[in-house]
Amino acid sequence: MHRASCIMYHENDMRVGIFGGTFNPIHYGHLRAAEEVREKLGLDRILFIPSGTPPLKTEELTEAVHRYKMTRLAVVTNRFFELSDIECRHPGKSYTVKTVEELKKTSPGIDFLFILGIDAFLDISNWWNPEKLIGLMDFVVIPRSPFRFVDLLSSPYISADEHVLKKLDAAEIESSTIKLKSNRDMIALRLPVIDISATRIRGLLSEGKSIKYLLPEAVESYIISNKLYRS
Ligand code: ATP
Repeated sequence: MHRASCIMYHENDMRVGIFGGTFNPIHYGHLRAAEEVREKLGLDRILFIPSGTPPLKTEELTEAVHRYKMTRLAVVTNRFFELSDIECRHPGKSYTVKTVEELKKTSPGIDFLFILGIDAFLDISNWWNPEKLIGLMDFVVIPRSPFRFVDLLSSPYISADEHVLKKLDAAEIESSTIKLKSNRDMIALRLPVIDISATRIRGLLSEGKSIKYLLPEAVESYIISNKLYRS
């Protein structure tokens, strides 16, 4: 299937990783992590979902249309990557629960897994209806500097064995499947950490500095020609 603005999968038994974010802008930290998760877990596709722009836009959040187009430029070169505008085609706040429910309704044969960094997983208590969210699908949690897997002990949504999390941090094991309180699985997956953040990229741009080698060239060109992230 070609990357389409409205994703509808029909094949059965496909496993698709959902990778959501503001992607403001998308960078090699996102892309490499998505590729490694896909390969390590044998997923059929990764579906990138840029978030919408809330009406009361936070200061640094670039319009959804730009973030969507940059994400498209970044994923188009990988045949396993897809892009969805499910969140950014509507103005307003995106609710992950609603997004996932809609995806499951339109693609009933797909086994969706939700991919996110340790930082984002620790933040889900601030998302809308987290108890419902953790019951909708399995999760894949990946490293994100400066967090460590043991930090997950503070999450109210898992009951993890500290010993196992320490083994992940010490690179003694590659992954561990941990039960979420919803009885769904959370796969904690060790990956090489690529310490790039969109915040840093925006900071460099606002200081007029180079962002080369932090994100795909096509995205860099888009940022320059659209004069994004200038102070
Ligand atoms: P910002 O700096 O603006 O907060 P970000 O770089 O953290 O942005 P997001 O779009 O907020 O990017 O992140 C989307 C998802 O990608 C989150 O689950 C986050 O944990 C993950 N992520 C972001 N950067 C990396 C990275 N370098 N390596 C692995 N995962 C990452």
